[in-house]
Amino acid sequence: MSKNSNLQVRFWGVRGSISISDPNSVRYGGNTSCLEVQCGDRKLIFDAGSGLRYLGNEMMASGKTFDTDIFLTHTHYDHICGIPFFKPFFLPQNKFRIWAGHLLPDTDLRSVLSALMTSPLFPVPLEIFRSKIEFHDFLVGDDLSSGAEVVVRTASLNHPDGATGYRIEYGGQSICYLTDTEHVAGELDPIILQLIDSADMVIYDSMYTEEEYKNCVGWGHSTWEAGADLCDAAGVPQFVIFHHDPDHDDDFMDKIAEDAENRRPGTVVAREGMVLRPARREAALQLPQRNAAVAV
Ligand SMILES: [Zn+2]
Ligand SMILES: [Zn+2]
Repeated sequence: MSKNSNLQVRFWGVRGSISISDPNSVRYGGNTSCLEVQCGDRKLIFDAGSGLRYLGNEMMASGKTFDTDIFLTHTHYDHICGIPFFKPFFLPQNKFRIWAGHLLPDTDLRSVLSALMTSPLFPVPLEIFRSKIEFHDFLVGDDLSSGAEVVVRTASLNHPDGATGYRIEYGGQSICYLTDTEHVAGELDPIILQLIDSADMVIYDSMYTEEEYKNCVGWGHSTWEAGADLCDAAGVPQFVIFHHDPDHDDDFMDKIAEDAENRRPGTVVAREGMVLRPARREAALQLPQRNAAVAV
């Protein structure tokens, strides 16, 4: 175990579907999905939405060299649109491994990202990058790792074109990242329940409220209420609401936060720039649920 056994997640993009720039949505943020998960000294990146550009700028400013894994839930635009603008890809000393579990056998990750960066959709090809980049296609359900000390488990999500849910385990703690996925009303997804069983934190596709969902069945997204039900059933202390609808402004998100606090005290609504650490399990057992995670 490296000296630093802390597990933490930083949110660089929390918005679903399309990035927004709106004075009424600045408190929660407008960039699309991107998480930086720090496992001690090891950095993992989950999804490459528009938030990835800001993470890349911070990595460049650090002056460090990176050898980093990037795990994609899937390849819809809002989860990969930051890739062409990720400056660390342009430095030859950096190494990256990009992972996806939803594409085989029909296609593969390199082909899909090449299509994204093809004229006239984009002026320069994937080969413009100077870093050593490996593209890894796996079969969803496989167990992966990042270095010797980080285990990354995977499970399939219910989403058009497929998507992969992740469980990151490090230092005796775990964070699950589940977006994009749709629930079946009144049912608990058994695949998700198995993946998140007794995890310390679950970050979940909460695009709609239960009320809105009635008009969005089949669109591939879920509700914060369904996420709370899953966390209750799986014994997960910390539930994090994520992948916010681009039409939900700050006032609307405040109302969701209030309703979620009433339904499941301690629930966190993800905001851009927020850093969360799971509480140590011993501490979580002693504390009331609302203190189960530490926002820093
Ligand atoms: Zn999405
Ligand atoms: Zn999607």
